[in-house]
Amino acid sequence: MAHVNENYLKLKAGYLFPEIGRRVQEFAKANPDANLIRLGIGDVTRPLAPAIIKAFHEGIDDLAKEESFHGYGPEQGYQWLSEVIIDKAYKPLGVELKPSEVFISDGSKCDTANILDIFALDNKIAICDPVYPVYNDTNVMIGRSGEADSRGYYAGISYLPCTAENDFSPALPSEKVDIIYLCYPNNPTGTVATREQLQAWVDYAIANESIILFDAAYEAFIRQPDIPHSIYEIPGAKKCAIEFRSFSKTAGFTGVRCGLTIVPEELGSYTSKGEKITLNQLWNRRQCTKFNGVSYPVQKAAAAVYSDEGWLQITETIDYYLNNARLIREGLTAAGITCFGGVNSPYIWLKTPAGIASWDFFDKLLAECHVVGTPGSGFGPSGEGYFRLSAFGDLENVQKAIKRFRDKWGR
Ligand code: PLP
Repeated sequence: MAHVNENYLKLKAGYLFPEIGRRVQEFAKANPDANLIRLGIGDVTRPLAPAIIKAFHEGIDDLAKEESFHGYGPEQGYQWLSEVIIDKAYKPLGVELKPSEVFISDGSKCDTANILDIFALDNKIAICDPVYPVYNDTNVMIGRSGEADSRGYYAGISYLPCTAENDFSPALPSEKVDIIYLCYPNNPTGTVATREQLQAWVDYAIANESIILFDAAYEAFIRQPDIPHSIYEIPGAKKCAIEFRSFSKTAGFTGVRCGLTIVPEELGSYTSKGEKITLNQLWNRRQCTKFNGVSYPVQKAAAAVYSDEGWLQITETIDYYLNNARLIREGLTAAGITCFGGVNSPYIWLKTPAGIASWDFFDKLLAECHVVGTPGSGFGPSGEGYFRLSAFGDLENVQKAIKRFRDKWGR
């Protein structure tokens, strides 16, 4: 008799977005004339940049000819893509990497989940609360937790609350943890970490021989020059951190699929007998066995992000989203609503008016303003009383949504 992985049965709610989809669909059915504005799911809406499309087409044309056909590529990605990433994305930050430390993938959702393969189950993990749900749920699925309590905290996982009270910058764990997930710019709070804050995490990790899993999916939205884009800008980080990056929000690849993971060669963890093992070697082994690489045209398209033309074009698109974020932030503030983020990030994290519960605010916003957002409590118990709006919509809709906010709560 086959048995299921019962860890899956511990997962409390379904994934947040299907529930939002269900409520929106129900509302739209009952109110067919409502002009709904969707500022909920963090998916991009602007088309791929022309330079990227051109390279994508060229990649496909190469596959049409015998002399330039490509079959299976390297599991780690083509070296020409790793080299351009090192040159254009890391060197300008003062970070030196080798191509063997760059692993091209089909996105950072998979990588942040798959990385668990190379760590023992008895590691104690720390997760921010609220958080991108994938970190929590994949640890539950793999069996690193007990059951969830009534608040939604799983036994065995160490949660780091991030609220307005601590400026969304969690205190270092009071107990010793082995693996720490950090995400900056943060989803969902839209906040960033300073050099000093990241240095404190790196110092903690080195002192405790812990590993930081640093998710930099939104680094391209950083505009303040003093905010680090990479954990490796912090001295010592190569000894304690793995970094994940994605072309999804940087270049509109949510439907194309490409990301990367950096595993420095000097990074190691221990066997139960105390032998130090290189994580780069384990991740390489994992990828070679379980992954067959990203398609050639997609990697050609990804490389075009770093061409002069491509970079200009993606910067314009990110600026467009950041302008939306600014308008939302300013519009909410003018309506008397307290909000955070939205400066170096496409996400605005607001405090629900009069402290109403996140899902109640979701229903109210949907019913009274016809605007769809994301309830903060869906990202963890400390998200209760907060709400996330995303700046990935189009400008006209953002302006309409702000007007509805002001008419409703207005000043
Ligand atoms: N990490 C964070 C924090 C995200 O918000 C997302 C997507 O929303 C991802 C990773 C997933 O990125 P990808 O599309 O590369 O899988």
